[in-house]
Amino acid sequence: MSRPSLPYFEENTDPLSSRIATGLHKIGLAMKQQAWLQANEEGLSATQGQILAALATHGALTGSELSQRLGVTLPTISDSVRVLVEKKLVTKSPDPRHPRASLLTLTKRGAQLGARARSWPDFMAAAVADLSAEEQRAFFSGVVKMIRSLQEQGLIPVSGMCVTCVHFRPNVRAGATPHHCAFVDAPLASDQLRLDCPEHELAGEAQRAELWLQLMRPT
Ligand code: SF4
Repeated sequence: MSRPSLPYFEENTDPLSSRIATGLHKIGLAMKQQAWLQANEEGLSATQGQILAALATHGALTGSELSQRLGVTLPTISDSVRVLVEKKLVTKSPDPRHPRASLLTLTKRGAQLGARARSWPDFMAAAVADLSAEEQRAFFSGVVKMIRSLQEQGLIPVSGMCVTCVHFRPNVRAGATPHHCAFVDAPLASDQLRLDCPEHELAGEAQRAELWLQLMRPT
């Protein structure tokens, strides 16, 4: 016996793109809430935790570099850094590269908290682990495309991704590792693309557009 069709859902279902956006919004809320809860446990704000995690990951940075990496305004970074210095979690020293800027470095206690703050998104990794290998690859590809789109619209900072890096050589060979990183002179698979590479060097607008075209072009 054939199953009845379900015209109700054909007429009453939002487009898939809208439902994906709704799903991402829910995931974003969960991440915000977790970051807030875990920061609170350490007596920090979520931004202060992000700053400690960024310094633990990338080493000493200036306020402007933190603002760029975290996508947070410079005045907000300055307020949070002032508190972190008062709490003796961060120290300021002159930046040899820019005489008028200060370099922010973690103290011993700041490094301990920074290492813990880096693991805050781990709860999300457990949820991602529930996806099959194929689902993870498709999801990662979608995430890379979405982040790049948001970056090119100026909605989040352009930093750290292979697809916007001067060293990236997309689709230069056939096979499992079609891409190449000229910085370390090594082949890269599509699911090995970096999202937060410390060696990333931002390509110019025209080169970024060309890199994306080459990446999307089948080999
Ligand atoms: S330097 Fe980093 S971001 Fe740039 S291509 Fe190599 S791995 Fe990717």
